[in-house]
Amino acid sequence: RRSRLAPSEAIRTTCPYCGVGCGVLLGRDGAGRIAVKGDPDHPANFGRLCSKGTALAETLGLDDRLRAPRVLGHETGWDTALDLVAARFSEVIREHGPDAVAFYVSGQLLTEDYYVANKLMKGFIGSANIDTNSRLCMASSVAGHRRAFGTDTVPGLYADLEEADLVVLTGSNLAWCHPVLYQRLVAAKAARPAMRVVVIDPRRTASCDIADLHLAVAPGGDAAIFNALLAEIDRRGATDTAFLRHVTGFAEALAAARASDPAESGLSPAELEAFCDLWIGTPKVVTVYSQGINQSSSGTDKVNAILNCHLATGRIGRPGMGPFSVTGQPNAMGGREVGGLANMLACHLDLEAPAHRTAVQAFWDAPAMPERAGLKAVEMFRALGEGRIKAIWIIHTNPVVSMPEADAVRAALEGADFVVVSDITECTDTARLAHVLLPAAAWAEKEGTVTNSERCISRQRAALPAPGSARPDWEILAEVGRRMGWPAAFGWSSVAEVFAEYAALSGVAGALGSDFDISDLAGIDAAEYDALAPFVWPRNARKNGGRFFGDGRFHTPDGKGRMLPVTPRGPESRPGAAFPFRLNTGRTRDQWHTMTRTAKAPRLNQHLGEPYCEIHPEDAARLGLGAGDLVRLHNPLGAVIARAAISDAVRPGEVFVPMHWTAETASAARIDTLVRAVTDPISGQPESKGSVVAIERFAAG
Ligand code: SF4
Repeated sequence: RRSRLAPSEAIRTTCPYCGVGCGVLLGRDGAGRIAVKGDPDHPANFGRLCSKGTALAETLGLDDRLRAPRVLGHETGWDTALDLVAARFSEVIREHGPDAVAFYVSGQLLTEDYYVANKLMKGFIGSANIDTNSRLCMASSVAGHRRAFGTDTVPGLYADLEEADLVVLTGSNLAWCHPVLYQRLVAAKAARPAMRVVVIDPRRTASCDIADLHLAVAPGGDAAIFNALLAEIDRRGATDTAFLRHVTGFAEALAAARASDPAESGLSPAELEAFCDLWIGTPKVVTVYSQGINQSSSGTDKVNAILNCHLATGRIGRPGMGPFSVTGQPNAMGGREVGGLANMLACHLDLEAPAHRTAVQAFWDAPAMPERAGLKAVEMFRALGEGRIKAIWIIHTNPVVSMPEADAVRAALEGADFVVVSDITECTDTARLAHVLLPAAAWAEKEGTVTNSERCISRQRAALPAPGSARPDWEILAEVGRRMGWPAAFGWSSVAEVFAEYAALSGVAGALGSDFDISDLAGIDAAEYDALAPFVWPRNARKNGGRFFGDGRFHTPDGKGRMLPVTPRGPESRPGAAFPFRLNTGRTRDQWHTMTRTAKAPRLNQHLGEPYCEIHPEDAARLGLGAGDLVRLHNPLGAVIARAAISDAVRPGEVFVPMHWTAETASAARIDTLVRAVTDPISGQPESKGSVVAIERFAAG
């Protein structure tokens, strides 16, 4: 393949996997082969990479790549495909209104792609039916932040994990899911032996290797722990009374905390006391949380239960202190900033606030803006199945595998009037159902920006040409916008121009009081964009070292942080005689999402190379299971086959199954077929860790 890569130079880009957002040097080794190294100058990783990052060069093969558009399975040219997409969307909108169409996008999209998709759907089509697979990942954190802080703003920085004297990982297997951040934590703990780490997780995960205390919380019991902590903070007189002048809702939150039953945490009184002793006795504490908190029918409340404790003690937005939500995908945070969820506008503006809507509409010179939030992911596919949505465009995600009740999602797509899929490959369960399949440029072939979990915006840069006629997503979306009748609004000639427009919009947001203001970059030209170095926003922050809320100033109308009363609720499904096992789903260390990229790297497949079901030895004995037997997990939604992995890392009555395998990679292994599409009422995030199943021996190993 021809490339921009000269033998002696490397291109600085960003890893396309997780929200740590590591900087990557993409160059050539001595033999002239494409090679990858960690970027020593990137502030997220300082040269480190994890197993997935170091294997990136092995995933660049083109065998399965989509090289030309396809309509009903037949290769065609771009003009034919794009004309068809524009015509069918326009026709549906004319006949059924703008809410009869939808975009379902992805945290894999670059910010510029997201920006164009949002502008097209919200400003010009006039619907808010654009949602993202980040809904499955961190929507509860977004909702919790907005309730407590007034905006979806992450208060702290990665350095806080290194500066803390106590790091609590709750619902976060940082070792496998954010490995380089975990490496930084391991190094910090080695350098400062007095540092303590607590892991709160029903499973004994790899992150427990450095834990001073592992608390095997009952599924859904997290809010009960943090309520118990809040009550104890108050009982011991450990609140920060000066900081509480900047916070409302303390009395109500405390009353709810006192009323909740600590036993619902599943922990013993001694375990709870040990946790409270550590947390209250350590001023510099960071509480890291992720999918174990978010993926719950009460995820938003769990987030606020954590935030309550930090607000009550003023441990927020100061070095080594704060709650810290780590995002799953490479650009989940950029998607949040650019308004990529059905209930948001760009730059932390609020879709349902008339002044914000009017300002964005004026900036875009847009004909129509929706006045209410659109359909969130689960609602969107339900509406598709019920025929309320007639046309959907799915971009870089595989909902037939990753959505809860995945079989119903597949049926909805099979029955839909018009399905467009943009992807780098045709080999996904979702791409196979597309009427129109659009070939997109992949990582290392496209230009743009991403934002990681600590608000660091970094460039992704192209080093290789895209195969065939594959194109960047922003360009495909803009082409459709032009063909739908808005040539001026979608008339950019480069990705740098898209970024510059986004930066200019952030100035409008800044004038409305938004904290997300990068408008000093509005005049950026192509060369400056090409050279843009990673930066954490707020840019050039002198106050609070780039952290938020430590000064007691929040983004709520009264400027105060909000504590919320939280009444713990367990998962919606309850184990019973017919379905006695609680099903926990999650990631493995070396695979990513539905494996479209990582499965190409042989060494990544060597670690846990097939679907498995972690089950406790007592349960295995009762079911007559031997090591390596195949088990069948089932509930009324379907059945899945996996290899039994007998381990006391899970508790009796609970099983863990990874979420990566697909019908393409292992038949009968899409675990999300068994996950109920129950959602958090505030965030709309599905409860991916709380369904129930029965298990039986399927075959000998
Ligand atoms: Fe990529 Fe995340 Fe690994 Fe960094 S930690 S190399 S961003 S997968």
